Amino acid sequence: MLAADCLLSSHPSTELHPTRPPRGRLSAHVYLGANHSAVRQGNRATIFRAIRALGPMARVELARRTRLNPATVTNIVDELIAAGLVSETGRGSSRVGRKPILLEVVPSARLTLGIDIARSAMTGAIVDLGGQIVERIDQPAGPWLTSDIVLESVADVIARLLARLSPDDQSAVVGIGIGVPGPLSGPSGPGLDTPSFRAWDGMALESSVAARFRLPTRVDNNGNTSALGELWFGAGQGVDNFILLNVGTGVGAALVLDGDLYRGDHGLAGELGHMSVSADGLQCACGNRGCLEMYISAPRVLAAVRAALASGEPSVVRSTLEAGGDLTITTLVGAVRSGDPLATRVLGDVAHYLAAGIVSIAHAFDPHLILIGRELAIAGDVLLDPVRKEVQRRVLPPLRQRVRIEVAAVSDAPVVGAATLAMRDFFQAPLANRSPASWSEAVSRGSASPLHLLPNSDSATSQPR
Ligand SMILES: [Zn+2]
Repeated sequence: MLAADCLLSSHPSTELHPTRPPRGRLSAHVYLGANHSAVRQGNRATIFRAIRALGPMARVELARRTRLNPATVTNIVDELIAAGLVSETGRGSSRVGRKPILLEVVPSARLTLGIDIARSAMTGAIVDLGGQIVERIDQPAGPWLTSDIVLESVADVIARLLARLSPDDQSAVVGIGIGVPGPLSGPSGPGLDTPSFRAWDGMALESSVAARFRLPTRVDNNGNTSALGELWFGAGQGVDNFILLNVGTGVGAALVLDGDLYRGDHGLAGELGHMSVSADGLQCACGNRGCLEMYISAPRVLAAVRAALASGEPSVVRSTLEAGGDLTITTLVGAVRSGDPLATRVLGDVAHYLAAGIVSIAHAFDPHLILIGRELAIAGDVLLDPVRKEVQRRVLPPLRQRVRIEVAAVSDAPVVGAATLAMRDFFQAPLANRSPASWSEAVSRGSASPLHLLPNSDSATSQPR
């Protein structure tokens, strides 16, 4: 018997669908559809974000901006108003007919809790639907030796943040988002699998926080959380395709494609710091040569300044260091602004390699916008003006004048972004049973404590991505 016949006889269902590859044989070939409710839930977040960014605005304008049909807009707006998330506020102007009723969001209607775990510290914040921080805790900590220490510290910060809220505000908290350093190389469900933090392997961060606080909880890497913060509240508002390039201790990127995060097959999309910008360049610890990170990460840039100083090059930076000052990106940028030749040359080299990286990113993704975040963003236009000029010279002609390069806009992007992770989930889940009033009633009846907010426990666990 031929191999194909064996497969058919052991997979009866394939006989009914001869063009469909047998299960398990071609697992990479999947056909994803969007069912009606998923589309509707995505539209709900889109409409809320549009009202928040562009409002107060009328329903007809909202339909025009979102390109959704007016009936869909009306249905979703009714749902948002019923849940108390959007309110009607006065009337707009109109040359003909009745003046339209304007809509605006109610930022305080719900709250989300964000935790950002960095390499040696943790920040927690309660954030409203307008992206404003209501409460904040900065906890210097680490190095994170074991997953037990991390879990306890996260729970401690969450409990302290919730304790600062009034009972009403506690009931308005709808979820927890957590950003972790480095990529998650697997689904974050049962346990973390972060290649850069082997001690955390198997840590059930998402499920343990969800169970402890009875709130929907979601974990993602803090590059992705920052990008979500930019999409909802920052420079990425209204932009469907953008790349956030975070340049700090390392170089990481987050990809927002077609209006949502793109994670790739293994959650590793966006490792653009390890894109080679020099085929035979410096050896990187990752195994590749000439990685972008080797030329533009903050430690590498500062090491280049130190090496030039050690070789005797004159610079105003030398006197800063001799006076006991620190060498930072801010010091470097100050020196460039004062016309210092050494600092100007070092930052020029950074611009050169960054531009080479951005040209490849533009060719790969054709984004509308490339945002630079973290430490290197401090340099602003001092860095980005020469980068823009070089990108113009090197990028494919159709992309010239089209790719914008800007600095990221959200201050506290990682923690606000972590809270946005929970906010996005909130809008994508059914809104029924989610009014603060129903929770407040449950709390006052004693059938729920302020930290046990969700009426049905199945909503308290993480929802599938
Ligand atoms: Zn590398």
